[in-house]
Amino acid sequence: MSEDSRKILLIEDETAIREALAAYLDKQYPVTAVADGQEALDVFAAQEFSLVVLDLMLPRISGEEVCRHIRRSSDVPIIMLTAKGEIEDRITGLELGADDYLVKPFSPRELVARIRALLRRPHITDEIQREVFEHDGLLIDLPRHRALLKDVEIKLTASEFKLLTTLARQPGRVYSRMELVEKVLGYDFEGYERTIDSHIKNLRSKLGDDPRDPQWLFTIHGVGYRFGKPSTWD
Ligand code: CA
Repeated sequence: MSEDSRKILLIEDETAIREALAAYLDKQYPVTAVADGQEALDVFAAQEFSLVVLDLMLPRISGEEVCRHIRRSSDVPIIMLTAKGEIEDRITGLELGADDYLVKPFSPRELVARIRALLRRPHITDEIQREVFEHDGLLIDLPRHRALLKDVEIKLTASEFKLLTTLARQPGRVYSRMELVEKVLGYDFEGYERTIDSHIKNLRSKLGDDPRDPQWLFTIHGVGYRFGKPSTWD
């Protein structure tokens, strides 16, 4: 897909910011700009977008709610826009389900850089079709349910395999423990987020991945885990 076919949904209630960003982004990506959360959800349900830029403070339906709503049906990359003091830190922004966030004021150029980085990441739906993937000598073969480290098969339990593939499908994306519990163990699982820590520990030992200097599995303190160094997807 060429960059100019990637459509962006911009949701921002402040007219001056919305118009300025839309004009700037429109030089590189087709943009649909809306001013409130309800309109955003209506447009999102009716059209396909490659990325969403979402202001946190919106009239009627908040950016947080819009984000949660979109996340129920879509893994589309979301960049959250916040004013200083609206959310406490990066961790909170990511916990809302966004992939990245920018604190106002920011330069349009900075936003475009973040958009580029997110659009370069393999999207999960592409990855499902690509059923065998390789990263730094680690090969994951989904149909055969196998993981090979430098051509040697490593024996993983079903949960470890699911956890590893969930993380490895989107290198660079940070997952909270709760998300991983839901994705790996299923919504019905009445377990603890610490279960994920145990699985990660086992995976690390099987991969020979040193938590103090990891190659694949990175701990994001206070949040969860990420697969791969940022330099491998940036
Ligand atoms: Ca606002």
